[in-house]
Amino acid sequence: MSMRSITEVEVRAKRVLVRVDFNVPLDGDRVADDSRIVAALPTLALLRERGARLVIASHLGRPKGRPRDDLRLAPVAARLAELTGVEVRTVPTVVGAEAEAASRTLGDGEMLMLENTRFEPGEETNDDALARDFAALADLYCNDAFGAAHRAHASTEGVAHHLESYAGLLLSREVEALDRLLKRPGRPFLAILGGAKVSDKLGVIAALIDRVDGILLGGGMANTFLLARGVEVRSSLVERDRVSDARALIARATERGVEISLPVDARVATSLDDGAQVVPIEAIQVGQAIFDIGPATGALYRERIMAAGTVFWNGPVGVYERDAFATGTREVARAVAATAAVTVAGGGDSIAALNDAGLAGEIDHVSTGGGASLEYIEGRTLPGLAAIPSA
Ligand code: ADP
Ligand code: MG
Repeated sequence: MSMRSITEVEVRAKRVLVRVDFNVPLDGDRVADDSRIVAALPTLALLRERGARLVIASHLGRPKGRPRDDLRLAPVAARLAELTGVEVRTVPTVVGAEAEAASRTLGDGEMLMLENTRFEPGEETNDDALARDFAALADLYCNDAFGAAHRAHASTEGVAHHLESYAGLLLSREVEALDRLLKRPGRPFLAILGGAKVSDKLGVIAALIDRVDGILLGGGMANTFLLARGVEVRSSLVERDRVSDARALIARATERGVEISLPVDARVATSLDDGAQVVPIEAIQVGQAIFDIGPATGALYRERIMAAGTVFWNGPVGVYERDAFATGTREVARAVAATAAVTVAGGGDSIAALNDAGLAGEIDHVSTGGGASLEYIEGRTLPGLAAIPSA
């Protein structure tokens, strides 16, 4: 799909409501990781250079429709001002008279940041009155929030029905990168899926079976598949009510000639505070839990990744937040960085792991949207994208 781009419209002296995904991790009143802010800078720079008056909107965290002091956007506005070297004005409200008045005082190229969109109860319910309130703040709408594109919220979907709407540069680039995987992937096409819960990813595994040549599983979600194959996973995180789903997916993959690879060994412990012990996957003792893939699995997965033509990675293959269980995820990150394949990675934790290893720059496309990229690959319609007219 090709959305109408913000590059195609005259924006000089127009107020442009730019929806970005500045849902960044905070450390007190500082931004701990500004990747998502940096990712939206090209769109903001383009609009400023062309003389637009920017009204910037984002959500942050989950305030559930009420203002919360620890989720105000002031630290984010401060970081944006640091990164751009220009003033970012703020208002204490999301919409309403004060925000509208502030939007009307903007000069060409100036920026105003609204307060956290999720402070408004109508945001997540996609309330039309709130969508109209957003529309009153601008002459045009530009959506650059790929990470929120799978949500039909007032600032990501509703408002697009009330203003002439365009895709920002990041939104278009994300969609192009994922389309490239879906339409003409280099072979073999390999997906690496990890993360905690299998229930989050059953849909994407089902969709991927129709597209890829192989799937490497790790992380908590692999445990449910291991159990489906009869492995005693003992105290590992597992979703017993999903074992039959896992079994069905394995059968479907076999039918299509797609190999689903599971760990052959693991780093286990009785608790996350204990040291890691490496065991073959059939030798996990009572009381032990799998917290990472083992070295043999890491080597096997590396070999597959190096031989691939396309790699899509979502989700760490272990509890990478703990040093003792971060090895497998680091090995996967290094292989994805080193392979000649076209590589796309998505998911907050996978990206954090890549950043920790200093490897994000080696990936062809690092998606700012974990859930959004999975839903796109599943072939679902993303409301934020659907609301932008096509080119
Ligand atoms: P992403 O943010 O990249 O999409 P997820 O949010 O799905 O990834 O999953 C990340 C979480 O999965 C991490 O917090 C990690 O600790 C957890 N995890 C990975 N492997 C295991 C495991 N074996 N047991 C329990 N939790 C795990
Ligand atoms: Mg996550």
